Amino acid sequence: MIIAERKPLAEIQSLLAGRKWVLLLGCGTCVTVCMAGGEKEVGILAAELRIARQVAGEPIETAEETVQRQCEWEYLDAVADKITSADTVLSLACAIGVQAIAQRFPTVRVVPALNTTFLGLPTEHGVWQERCQACGNCLLGKTGGVCPVARCSKSLMNGPCGGSQRGKCEVNPEIDCGWQLIYDRLSTLGEQDYMLEIEPPRDWRTSRDGGPRKIVREDLRA
Ligand code: SF4
Ligand code: SF4
Repeated sequence: MIIAERKPLAEIQSLLAGRKWVLLLGCGTCVTVCMAGGEKEVGILAAELRIARQVAGEPIETAEETVQRQCEWEYLDAVADKITSADTVLSLACAIGVQAIAQRFPTVRVVPALNTTFLGLPTEHGVWQERCQACGNCLLGKTGGVCPVARCSKSLMNGPCGGSQRGKCEVNPEIDCGWQLIYDRLSTLGEQDYMLEIEPPRDWRTSRDGGPRKIVREDLRA
């Protein structure tokens, strides 16, 4: 899922400076699961903003709403009246939700309450870890299900850099060496021969390096 975390309150307040009527709009999918922008977080942030502005002598009115997904028109359209009547929409979705509002409602001011951080998973309560950089050409079938792009600090494609110490990465000794993890998994699966295959230079145009990407499914467009 998409992992995000809330911006500092002071930064959010600066984005709302001078605004008097704000709709806080949460999202019921990824950011609810990572506890950054669901219904509960919308309520907490709204209360924090009202209190801070009251104390500053600049009261603010807030409305709260959480849709199933901010990244799809149909859910945004269901709350279009609230979106278009707000002075500013403070989105607690990932950055895709923010941009969806900006595109769907060209005259509406929308600002982010979250920093969208990575694609990952919760590995223990309160801990999320990156697992994918959406490179557009997945290698997991050859690497034991461990991503060399996301989990090797140098995104190496053909084995470790040689700097790993006791299974930890030389870039950051706090994290596991991605290629140690790949080797361990392939060993467990009896698939170490994949380590001997040379991965040719990659065409990074399938990743973000080729500019904004688009998928068109002609079979769905008929
Ligand atoms: S190889 Fe690419 S698509 Fe597959 S997990 Fe890694 S970054 Fe994601
Ligand atoms: S130590 Fe391992 S994870 Fe770190 S950069 Fe080298 S190969 Fe990649």
